[in-house]
Amino acid sequence: MRSSHEFTCINCPLSCPLELVEEDGRVLEVKGAECRLGEKYAEAEFTDPRRVVTTTVTVRNGTLPLLPVRSTEAIPRRLVREAVESLASIAVEAPVKEGQVILADLLGTGVDVVSSRDLNTLSGHK
Ligand code: SF4
Repeated sequence: MRSSHEFTCINCPLSCPLELVEEDGRVLEVKGAECRLGEKYAEAEFTDPRRVVTTTVTVRNGTLPLLPVRSTEAIPRRLVREAVESLASIAVEAPVKEGQVILADLLGTGVDVVSSRDLNTLSGHK
């Protein structure tokens, strides 16, 4: 059965409205894209949507109670909720450096989760 799906390209400020037409899961065409990036974006969103995970984890003995973290690459969108839930149970010890691995191999994806900033201890040690 043929059907269409709408997306908005996020690759540049033009935000082209995209219409992907598929038949039984096979992509037939992408309309509305001003360039190839939009076509690739719509195809990826339809076949294998992925997102970078951004959240916070608890910090012990830090100048802030929470540390912002992010995945180093996008993971399958269907795993994002589970990823955020698993990171909610993690606590790290200050000090922490930007880019430090907080959790390796997130949910078996091969993608690491790293700190998005430096965070000192309450006593000021880096
Ligand atoms: S399709 Fe091309 S021009 Fe349009 S928003 Fe995406 S990147 Fe920008």
